[in-house]
Amino acid sequence: MIRTLPAFAGHRLDRADPIRADAARLAELARADARLLLLEGLIPRLDHEQHLQWGRLGEAEGEVVFLGLLDGEPLFAAVPDKGDPDPAYTRRETFTALRVLQPDELALYGGARSLLDWHARHRFCPQCGGPTAMAKGGWERDCGQCGAQQFPRTDPVTIMLIEHEKRVLLGRNARFPGRSYSALAGFVEPGETIEEAVAREVFEEAGVRVRDVSYIASQPWPFPSQLMIACHGHADHDALTIDTTELEDAQWFTRNEVEEAFANPDEARFVPPFPLAVAHHMLRWWLEREP
Ligand SMILES: [Zn+2]
Repeated sequence: MIRTLPAFAGHRLDRADPIRADAARLAELARADARLLLLEGLIPRLDHEQHLQWGRLGEAEGEVVFLGLLDGEPLFAAVPDKGDPDPAYTRRETFTALRVLQPDELALYGGARSLLDWHARHRFCPQCGGPTAMAKGGWERDCGQCGAQQFPRTDPVTIMLIEHEKRVLLGRNARFPGRSYSALAGFVEPGETIEEAVAREVFEEAGVRVRDVSYIASQPWPFPSQLMIACHGHADHDALTIDTTELEDAQWFTRNEVEEAFANPDEARFVPPFPLAVAHHMLRWWLEREP
């Protein structure tokens, strides 16, 4: 297991599930002066001390979700008109905020963001096309026409460090900044276990057969709503056959090269993943293991 806490993990909220289903209790908590997370669309607003900014529920327009209780106090957030169509972490304002927020606030923001984005994108029923309405304080949407229930989704993604004779396999996507390499990753497909998804992705992208896959850690990733499942595995061989439609390059790196990448990225063989990414924590975990 990794010892460091990945970004977007470690929220302090009591999700207060019984309150979500209790309309009377929820109405009681939803007072005009209750705390409302302030956002521009889905971008967090920060105060001058770099904390999340809060307004009052009375200022909210449209649908509002109940995030949970923080130290006994209810927190709410309003659904924006639109979800975020871009890979939003690439937006400078979002990215700047992510870099300065404290871990517990980052986790609170990430969870709220995924939930709000899901509501903004699920105003119509996937079964009959009828309009849906929020239920259970924002942790469900129901179709007014056919009654189908929808729940906020989380998409599992495997991300893996594959090892062969004390070297680790890292790849780069064409849209990565120059010289950046990271762990290979891919969505779990229907009908697959986590272990099978890891083996398939590595074989598809790098032509490497993988065995002995084990779980390391997980990270909620709110762009829009993935659960990154970090794994480790061993390769049977080091010959690579790279699928260039997926990866621009993949290479094996030694322990010394990974250490050097963290210590001196400008001169190392590659630039490691940034601290917000679980791959950063995975590589540090790998360095700390017994070789
Ligand atoms: Zn419907």
